Amino acid sequence: MWRAPFPTSTVSEVLQACLNQTAIPALRERVAAATLEIEAATRTFEAAGRAVSFYLLKSEDFQVAGVTKEEMESMYDRMSRAGTPARSFYDQIRNSRKLCPMCNQRIVETVDHYLPKKKFPALAVSPPNLLPACSDCNKIKLASVPSDIQQQTLNPYYDDVESAPWLKATIRQSVPAVVRFYVDPPPSWSEDLAERAKFHFRTFRLGRLYSIYAGEEASLIRAGLKRDYKRGGSVAVRQTLAEAAQTRLDARINSWQTAAYFAWRDDDWFCNSGFDLIG
Ligand SMILES: [Zn+2]
Repeated sequence: MWRAPFPTSTVSEVLQACLNQTAIPALRERVAAATLEIEAATRTFEAAGRAVSFYLLKSEDFQVAGVTKEEMESMYDRMSRAGTPARSFYDQIRNSRKLCPMCNQRIVETVDHYLPKKKFPALAVSPPNLLPACSDCNKIKLASVPSDIQQQTLNPYYDDVESAPWLKATIRQSVPAVVRFYVDPPPSWSEDLAERAKFHFRTFRLGRLYSIYAGEEASLIRAGLKRDYKRGGSVAVRQTLAEAAQTRLDARINSWQTAAYFAWRDDDWFCNSGFDLIG
């Protein structure tokens, strides 16, 4: 959902490093013989990324002739094994972002296959299919495969949704006040992109995640808002929230912090009393 730098390593380099770590000559030969096929599968994947058509890729077209699914998965195991030369390619991808590009909240702990290696073994070690991810987003997605264009989660290498604001929030008047987040697609987006962003938001349960963090943030700023209120009523509270919202907007257009501060600023009930209600 947020951009990650496209990997600079090629699938041939990664595959070669994995083969160097393969002690069984027969396996090494069979995988080496499939190199061109694996490179072609990677190019097909990249073309689908550019065309936003991952949902058209069929699992049967991504099997590797003469190499089993388990053997391709074992190539990935070689790539992710700590302390080996192939691991440097894994680390390059894992370390390309500090925060997970799927949720933009939790720290990156692992590498996730955009199309699962179980169903697409030819892409098991293809860098464009490997994303830096937090453990939770990695677990949530597991072996899911997009079935149509609108069920295609956003891809941090191919989708750019950072230039226009789309993450918004409203306040639920409850004790304590709850921030509810939602995707508000900008007019420049196609209907497919809008639906995909909503699908991504639901799949990775971002509304719940951000709502919890926003609740914490509200309790951290409560004392300051109380002082503002004593000094200048809801006008002073709104002033503080407006300045904080602008500061966060200047840093990042789409963050839960930006959306939450604007929602708090715009809510009369919150500025008058909602900020101070504790459950
Ligand atoms: Zn995540």
